[in-house]
Amino acid sequence: MAEAPIRIGISTCLLGKPVRFDGGHKRDGFLVDTFGKWVEWVPVCPEVELGLGTPRETMRLVRTEGEVRLVMPRCGRDHTEAMTRFAERRAAELARADLSGYVLKKDSPSCGMERVKIYDRHGTPARAGVGLFAAALAARLPRLPIEEEGRLSDPRLRENFVERVFAYRRLRTFFAGRWISGGLVRFHTAHKLLVMSHSTVAYGRLGRLVASVKRLDRAAFANRYQQEFMDALKVIATVRRHTNALQHMLGHFRDRLDPASRQELAACIDEYRRGLVPLVVPITLVRHHVRALGVEYLAGQLYLEPHPKELMLRNHV
Ligand code: SF4
Repeated sequence: MAEAPIRIGISTCLLGKPVRFDGGHKRDGFLVDTFGKWVEWVPVCPEVELGLGTPRETMRLVRTEGEVRLVMPRCGRDHTEAMTRFAERRAAELARADLSGYVLKKDSPSCGMERVKIYDRHGTPARAGVGLFAAALAARLPRLPIEEEGRLSDPRLRENFVERVFAYRRLRTFFAGRWISGGLVRFHTAHKLLVMSHSTVAYGRLGRLVASVKRLDRAAFANRYQQEFMDALKVIATVRRHTNALQHMLGHFRDRLDPASRQELAACIDEYRRGLVPLVVPITLVRHHVRALGVEYLAGQLYLEPHPKELMLRNHV
């Protein structure tokens, strides 16, 4: 499984395919040209797969008598039931498609993940909806990293999503095998600084869970660990949390680095904290010392390289 391609579901229009209502597309350069080199896309256009064709009338979410309906406002046709049935069936298929993430098109009444416009009977919109397909997907695959392409233009959200994709893949690979508690401790330890950069509280909670593994039912444990692990990574890693993780690593060099090199590393971490250099700078220096000095514990920390460096996700200040 570790050798299989990383499969990511995606709203088809983001790949540049002309499937939108107007016959156009919404090609996303980062996804297609950069992230696309590392993953295998699994495209889904719910509206085309439902048989609505291209071009087609626009659709919108409308609140009618307390219910949210998916309708074509010009002809009045209501597609709510058909789309709900399709979405549940397709989400069940995707649950068997070995996905490690999903990128949805924002604002769409089918694909939008949040803040989709819901119109009232006067035609006034409120950004309070979720696309029908997106809702079925999230309900069927609650741990799957799901993000909208619009939010991925924010560097912190982009890194968070890509990091979750790779972590989710490792998590599923681990629990898909015949895991033993020793392997679990190794998995958990390798992710220590990565999880701590998101939430030290969650890391503590996961640690207590790992300590109780022999007292719990295996399936229940696996389910709970995976859920809490992915929930922890959803918390955005801030500069303060990254600084804590870096200082934690600095502590591991106490008796190994000469004073001048220690001071240089401490100063580099502080420059990152003050927003003068991107995260990649102290991380590169740490990796250099880890390699040169053979610091085994830190060498095993996935925090030092949670995703391919070619994606340059830690190069922003
Ligand atoms: S947003 Fe979704 S339904 Fe609309 S064109 Fe893109 S893939 Fe199809």
